[in-house]
Amino acid sequence: MKIRQELLKNIRQVEPYVPGEQPQGRVVKLNTNENPYPPSPEVRKALDALDTDAFRLYPDPASSVLIKALAEQYQVGEDQVFAGVGSDDVLSLCFLTFFNSDRPVLFPDITYSFYRVWAELYRIPYECPELDRNFRIVKEDYYRENGGVIFPNPNAPTAIYEGLDFVEDILEHNRDSIVIVDEAYIDFAGRSAVELVDKYDNLIVTQTFSKSRSMAGMRIGYAIASPELIRCLNDVKYSFNSYTMSRAALVCGAAAVQDRAYFEENVRRITATRARVQDQLRELGFEMTGADANFLFARHPEHDAKRLFGELKKRRIYVRHWNDERIRQYLRITVGTDEEMDIFFRALRDILDNK
Ligand code: PMP
Repeated sequence: MKIRQELLKNIRQVEPYVPGEQPQGRVVKLNTNENPYPPSPEVRKALDALDTDAFRLYPDPASSVLIKALAEQYQVGEDQVFAGVGSDDVLSLCFLTFFNSDRPVLFPDITYSFYRVWAELYRIPYECPELDRNFRIVKEDYYRENGGVIFPNPNAPTAIYEGLDFVEDILEHNRDSIVIVDEAYIDFAGRSAVELVDKYDNLIVTQTFSKSRSMAGMRIGYAIASPELIRCLNDVKYSFNSYTMSRAALVCGAAAVQDRAYFEENVRRITATRARVQDQLRELGFEMTGADANFLFARHPEHDAKRLFGELKKRRIYVRHWNDERIRQYLRITVGTDEEMDIFFRALRDILDNK
């Protein structure tokens, strides 16, 4: 049944974000930047110790155990941390809370495609300055008047990290706007802008448990900023849904943060495999934009990316491909285990040999 025009006029219609495929069964899954290794064994212990009788009660709306663990980890006040259901939840609330101007919010033309979706959903005006020829963010494009700025560092899907000088330059030129630095992949890259939150009252840094902490399925993300901005974010959260984080997510998240050694080893394994994958892709003639995340963004001058994507998929190997004009010759390839990458390369060589 079609929705009648009279009803349609009051319905919010949006073009939704399209997440990567989540195929079931035995596949090599290199398409949504998950971590191929399990989370810390401390997470299993925390889950085993959970009192399931307590599930009848609502969880702590302030997410205290998790916030405390994060505050200790990042050496900030507990009133400087906000937790949500993945960084998607945190970022979406940030758009709602901080981007309320008639002036456009600025984010790069090639970046995390959810930004555009939230801007459309909340009817926030936005503009998307183009990345340069080398897919770098042009910081001068963010000097103009705006209603806020957001960019990932490292950027996705380009995997290019910009140093803190670059971040500070954007903060300095936007003292009267909120600047959100989305650090979903920072642990694979370099220094975090968290160290700048006490210096800049306009800075919000977001991070996630989905990548370096191997917990995409638990849905945990967080923001770090000044206590005043965190208070604003909490006010909006409590106006929307007080009990966002489940009891399981809270204790598992805290356990993961506390196991620092496991986290470091996990990141080291991924970056070691990444270096090997980079070399092998280069040997096969691929060019890459950057290599500062747990994925690579690669193109081959002689092979059509869409065909490669399709051929890999036939072999049950999933990578990510977009049809957008500027990037349609690229594949985004998540760094998996060494074994997964060996399977990937065997398939890729076979496809390249049989043009
Ligand atoms: N930011 C960027 C740049 C991402 O690539 C992702 C992952 N899709 C997210 C945020 C959201 O991740 P999550 O909601 O799993 O924390």
